[in-house]
Amino acid sequence: MAKKQFKAESKRLLDLMINSIYTHQEIFLRELISNASDAIDKLAYLALTDQNVGMSREDFFIDLRADKKLGLLTVSDNGIGMSKEEMEQNLGTIARSGSLQFKQALDKENADVDIIGQFGVGFYSAFMVADTVTVLSKKYGEEEAWMWQSSGADGYTISPCEKTTVGTEVILKLKADTEDEKYSRFLEQYELQNLVKKYSDYIRYPIRMEMEKHRRKELPEDEKDEKDEDGEEKAPEWETYTELSTLNSMIPVWQKSKKDVTDEEYDGFYKDKFYDFEKPLAHIPVSVEGAVTYKALLYIPAKAPYDFYTKDYKKGLQLYSSGVMIMEHCEDLVPDHFRFVRGVVDTADLSLNISREMLQHNRQLSIISTNLEKKIKQELLNMQKDRREDYEKFFAAFGRQLKYGVVSDYGMHKDALQDLLLFWSAKEQKLVTLKEYVEAMPEEQKHIYFAAGESNARLAQLPQYQRLQEKGFDVLFMTEDVDEFVPRTLMNYMEKDFRNLATDDLDLSTEEEKKAAEAVAEDWKEDLDFIKTALEGKISKAEVSADLGSHPVCLVPEGGMSFEMEKYFKRMDPEMSGRLQKILRLNPDHPAIQKLKALIPSDPEKAKQYAQVLYVQGLILADLPIEDPQAYTELICGLL
Ligand code: ADP
Ligand code: MG
Repeated sequence: MAKKQFKAESKRLLDLMINSIYTHQEIFLRELISNASDAIDKLAYLALTDQNVGMSREDFFIDLRADKKLGLLTVSDNGIGMSKEEMEQNLGTIARSGSLQFKQALDKENADVDIIGQFGVGFYSAFMVADTVTVLSKKYGEEEAWMWQSSGADGYTISPCEKTTVGTEVILKLKADTEDEKYSRFLEQYELQNLVKKYSDYIRYPIRMEMEKHRRKELPEDEKDEKDEDGEEKAPEWETYTELSTLNSMIPVWQKSKKDVTDEEYDGFYKDKFYDFEKPLAHIPVSVEGAVTYKALLYIPAKAPYDFYTKDYKKGLQLYSSGVMIMEHCEDLVPDHFRFVRGVVDTADLSLNISREMLQHNRQLSIISTNLEKKIKQELLNMQKDRREDYEKFFAAFGRQLKYGVVSDYGMHKDALQDLLLFWSAKEQKLVTLKEYVEAMPEEQKHIYFAAGESNARLAQLPQYQRLQEKGFDVLFMTEDVDEFVPRTLMNYMEKDFRNLATDDLDLSTEEEKKAAEAVAEDWKEDLDFIKTALEGKISKAEVSADLGSHPVCLVPEGGMSFEMEKYFKRMDPEMSGRLQKILRLNPDHPAIQKLKALIPSDPEKAKQYAQVLYVQGLILADLPIEDPQAYTELICGLL
């Protein structure tokens, strides 16, 4: 029979499996059992809506069989089975996300074999322990059964075979033992039993095996009271028998009571189920009885998946009804701002064959989701309080999502999210919550100050910042795209409003200072007009300001939007026309500015050039591009 070739990607993965020196080869069993369980899920689901299946939950099982003489290990199920085409498709390609993710990680991390076990690597993992893999399968509803067979990377065959029952049998011809590796251990019942406990305990169908057991031989009645020669009771006699035993507890971890589950078990379940090799930062077991009765188990991952901030990422929780999965990603169970949460919801209150459209408008679901949202928030707040380092890790991964959450939907979720935010405190040199910021404010500070820009180092250069620093006021430095929109959306926090260093009145002057400033402005009126004319087309206004500290000038945008925000919009839409108008602020106490003022009546031509230089300084400080660098250098050279 002609051998068929594996698809290129599969071949590479297969090679890796066959030549693997990975020490946790045992995970192959977990993979085969999980496939069996998936196949049973499918038939069980069908049985709910199709009378003809004639099976109920109790009729399903996964059987392990070890044949020591032949060196064969068989995993069989009475699930949905595979047709010939499905064998071709499913066993000849890496279709599943786990294997793909695994491959991607391998490509990235220089094929570090130690990460193999941390992914769901799927069916091919069988080749880590087997020379030959044979799959017999009969699909539900079909007459014929098929056999798939492969001895590794050189290809596989598919041929008709005899099989009377629906389902699949995967037969492994184990590799011969070597000095380093005893493959025959996978034929030992205790080894198999342990592996099932370790990896597959929550599989909801019985995983059965004929177990050899020992028991005391029942003595015939008349011998029972007999004593031996010394008058002692006779030594007990033992006999060996076999019994079909169920190896797994079958209760899914989310159905178990919290006190019966260890942290390792919770973490292990997460890694297995959601193909993450990092421990989650938190697990949230939920058990609710009431208007809707359900159990849930939610996780906060430690890292954002590589596609998290793209359209490809699928949010949602797995939805089960009485132990049968009905939806892999039920989006309606988590709000967008918590879309990083992974987990499972199981409720008997949902009908199983409910359609997706009906689910969307389901009242029970919306009760559950409201409830879960509260639980998630509470968990995050607890983490913020008790495990700050973990919380910062969380925030590094998903903080941006929370900020998007604040600004999206016209700020609808801001009250729910504002306490979860962290920003960089320039004074404390660490991340703080808004609450921490406000509580640390000196009594005379009236506003929450923030500055947005490319980097903390740049922001620390702002003249306005230096002014605030002198007063002992803290400033929140915001360096992410979305940051600046957050205070705009929140408007205030604990009754303190936000003031943007770049655009807003910092409100620092006393009444007297304000009066004095007005007098200065009056004195400068004509000079300011001169400067505005000198910078025609570049600025919309020139003004004097007492907020500049030791700096001679700064540029601020007119009209509330900041330069940073403008840059952000330009990045989003490079075609965006129009620019923000700029206001040039001058420090009347600065010697350079005083010199300029003196020059205006005596040497207007030179004063004009000074104004131009100062304008460019403003551009530099505001991190804006110099419009005509060549003209600027010429200008400077001319002045030297
Ligand atoms: P995954 O389980 O993530 O899909 P695998 O590599 O483990 O990836 O399996 C590939 C596919 O082979 C499965 O999706 C399924 O369609 C099919 N398959 C594997 N084992 C069985 C089985 N015991 N019964 C039915 N189909 C199976
Ligand atoms: Mg699988």
